Amino acid sequence: MSTTTTVVSETRAKPSSETRAKHDAARVELLLSELRLPGVKLIWAKLAEQSDKEGWPAARFLAALAEHEMADRGRRRMERHLTEARLPAGKTLATFDFDSVPMVSKAQVMALASGDAWLGKGANILLFGPPGGGKSHLAAALGLALIENGWRVMFARTTDLVQRLQVARRELALESAIAKLDRYDLLILDDIAYVTKDQAETSVLFELIAARYERRSMLITANQPFGEWGKIFPDQAMTLASIDRLVHHATILEMNVESYRRREALDRKRGRGRPATHATIKKTEKSED
Ligand code: ADP
Ligand code: MG
Repeated sequence: MSTTTTVVSETRAKPSSETRAKHDAARVELLLSELRLPGVKLIWAKLAEQSDKEGWPAARFLAALAEHEMADRGRRRMERHLTEARLPAGKTLATFDFDSVPMVSKAQVMALASGDAWLGKGANILLFGPPGGGKSHLAAALGLALIENGWRVMFARTTDLVQRLQVARRELALESAIAKLDRYDLLILDDIAYVTKDQAETSVLFELIAARYERRSMLITANQPFGEWGKIFPDQAMTLASIDRLVHHATILEMNVESYRRREALDRKRGRGRPATHATIKKTEKSED
């Protein structure tokens, strides 16, 4: 009887090494899902095959898997950060023509793009200049570079963000809405001067600036100099207090150049003799500013 049993189990043992390998593979897949290691899950079978073929020591196999997971996590984190940042598409430092803004130093902007010297201490950047001068482009391009360097950024038109914060205030949740924005090392507020009178009256912008002061950075673009900021805040005291906090630790870049679009249109006209009508120029400016 016992002999028979042994024979049976031996004849079973032959195909079972393959079966067991399949079984193990299925378990590995399940366990990796459970452990939330999707990067490892994608690559382990291929790496295991290579490892078996080339006779890697176990530690080498494990290190290769871990490295893969690290790189994959980094990629996914960056993708998340890019999505949450809501940057306008296609605005990069590489496509920004520094020659057309001679008062802005390319070296300085490149240094700011690493983020290290200013984001850690909650310093700010203020970009001033007339419409079309490249403020939004430069702001978005800096945001993108900072994300690539591992920082978290959010880009918003100022009036949109103010509107969101006003809704939060009505729901008695302004404080937590502002606290949630703490996750961003940098908040880009594009076109602060477009805040309307009724938006200013609720002072959410003042509270946002006060809350981030010396802790979390802001990059603000404005068509108008400080003298015109009176309508952004409910009263003069808040205007002064806000400006005071913003400029205390700030890099201010003045981009006093003629509209890039207008110059491009003029260049086209001169270069190729294909006149851009005034109507077209005006329309483009209006739609994008
Ligand atoms: P602003 O925000 O100051 O009104 P934008 O950044 O929206 O100006 O610029 C208007 C358009 O011109 C955008 O399409 C932008 O990409 C382009 N632009 C402006 N300045 C530059 C520049 N120096 N190099 C490349 N493109 C520029
Ligand atoms: Mg703009």
